[in-house]
Amino acid sequence: MELIPGVHQVDGVVGNCYIIIGDGLILIDTGLPNKTQKILDYLKNTLDCIPSDIETIILTHYHLDHSGNAYELWDSSGAKIAIHADDAGYISGEVPMPGPGGIWGLIYSIFKIFFKFKPVQPDILLHDNDKIAGMTCIHTPGHTPGSICLYDPKFDILFVGDTIRNIDGHLEAPPAKFSRNMDQVKQSIQKIAKLDFNIMLSGHGTPVMRDASIKVREFSESLK
Ligand SMILES: [Zn+2]
Ligand SMILES: [Zn+2]
Repeated sequence: MELIPGVHQVDGVVGNCYIIIGDGLILIDTGLPNKTQKILDYLKNTLDCIPSDIETIILTHYHLDHSGNAYELWDSSGAKIAIHADDAGYISGEVPMPGPGGIWGLIYSIFKIFFKFKPVQPDILLHDNDKIAGMTCIHTPGHTPGSICLYDPKFDILFVGDTIRNIDGHLEAPPAKFSRNMDQVKQSIQKIAKLDFNIMLSGHGTPVMRDASIKVREFSESLK
């Protein structure tokens, strides 16, 4: 669906996948594995675009519900894949993806059998404050070591990945069982609470379509 002119969200791919339309297309996250066709169908049917119109695929972090179709989309489009340097090894296959502990670890290991992930070599390794596709990369570690947010000044949007989610109108931190370091998550939320932005688009839940930075500041205060 079109969120605002020039910014779309592909429904039903689980980790939210956003498309920004500029000279070419920028994808932010790619959803769970096995959703490539759904994303390509959206490109064709809604945007009247072809896969090679995708210029860059930026992953907010390595988790499978965000990187799940990165290989297939890269393969069909020739787009460049960008991810923070600290998460790059997980998608290239150099570092095994750690799962959560306990019962969730068991569920995760079954999940991995059904959702096959193909490693992909990133073309661009991002760092804090880097510019990419007209946006600024903000390193917000905690959920994963290389989690990032992306600020797009053209649309006044902050893409926050899994660092914050908007569930039923309430902002939430990511679940601790799926996050590497919750103290770092809180520090990262405080970091983005210093920014000004109107719209917040997160990896899960629904968009915050206005005054988003005010809501993030209130949320950040509640975590202290
Ligand atoms: Zn996620
Ligand atoms: Zn995640």
